[in-house]
Amino acid sequence: MSSSILWPAGPRRVLVVGIDGVRLDLLPELRTPHLDAVAAAGFLAPVQVDEATPTMSGPCWATIATGVTVAKHGVYGNHLGGHRLDVFPDFTTRLATAHRRRTFAAGGWEPLFLARQGGPLFAAPGRLSYIGPLEDTPEAWEVCDERVTAEAVSVLTGDDDPQASFVYLGAVDETAHFRGCGAEYRASVETADRRLGRLLAALEARPGYPQEEWTVIVVTDHGHLDQGGHGGRSELERTAWVAASGPGLAPGGAVEPVRHVDVAAHVFAALQIVPDPHWTLDGRPFTPVAELVPQA
Ligand SMILES: [Zn+2]
Repeated sequence: MSSSILWPAGPRRVLVVGIDGVRLDLLPELRTPHLDAVAAAGFLAPVQVDEATPTMSGPCWATIATGVTVAKHGVYGNHLGGHRLDVFPDFTTRLATAHRRRTFAAGGWEPLFLARQGGPLFAAPGRLSYIGPLEDTPEAWEVCDERVTAEAVSVLTGDDDPQASFVYLGAVDETAHFRGCGAEYRASVETADRRLGRLLAALEARPGYPQEEWTVIVVTDHGHLDQGGHGGRSELERTAWVAASGPGLAPGGAVEPVRHVDVAAHVFAALQIVPDPHWTLDGRPFTPVAELVPQA
C-alpha cells in the first residue's frame, strides 16, 4: 500500500474533548489553565442550547457530533432510540467511512459508544475505546475518566495517527448529579482540566508535531442547577460553551455566535473537507468576526 493511501490527509488534525456538564459561569473562579490556554490561542464562547433541544446529554452530544439539530438526528433524550444517526452520522464515523480518515473515539458513557440505550452515537470510528465506570458514582467516574485519558494519550501518541478524535470525560456531570455544584464539583472541573492538559501534551509529544496543524475543540453539552440536575430551560441549564484553537482562529479573536451544530462543521473545515450538500449540515465553521465585516 502506498503511503499516500495510508496518510491521505496532510498536516491537519483535530482533537475534540467533550467535558459533560461544565457550568460557564463558574469557570472564572476555577483553576483551568489548560482550557484557558486553548481559549487564549483561539476563543471561548457561550453556546445556548436551542429551544427544540432538551438540555440533556443525549441530544446535545448528538448535535455536537453530527452537525445537525434534533429535528434531523432525532435524539431527544438519554435513550437514543428512534434516532436517524444512520443518515446523519457522527463526524468520526463519516470521516472514517466516507473519507478514509483515521478517527478515534473514547469515553465511558454507554449510549455514546455502545449498543445500549439506543446507542451508539459514535457508530463506527476507525478506533473506539469504551472504558466504563465500575459503578454509578462520582468516584468511579473519576477512575473511568482517568483510564480514558490514559488510553487517549496512548492512541494520540501511537502509530494510529488519528486525524479526528473525540474524547469524552463524564465525572464532572456525575459529581453535579450526586453532590450539587459545590466544592467537589469545582474540584472535578479542575481535575478534568488537568486531563485536558495531558491530552494537549500528548499532541505536542508527537514526533511529527512541528509539521502538523492541530485544531483543538473543547466543548460542554449543558449546564447544571446549583443543586445539580438539568433538562429544563433555565439559563444555568441551557448555557453551554465551546473553546477552540487552530488554523483560521486568531489568538483571542472574537467569533460570531457559536452553536453546538458548528462543532462538527468546524471539524470538517479544519480537515479541509467541503461538506456534501446532501449532508444538510446545520452548522458552519467557527467564524472570526473580522471575516464577516463587509468590505468597503
Ligand atoms: Zn447530566
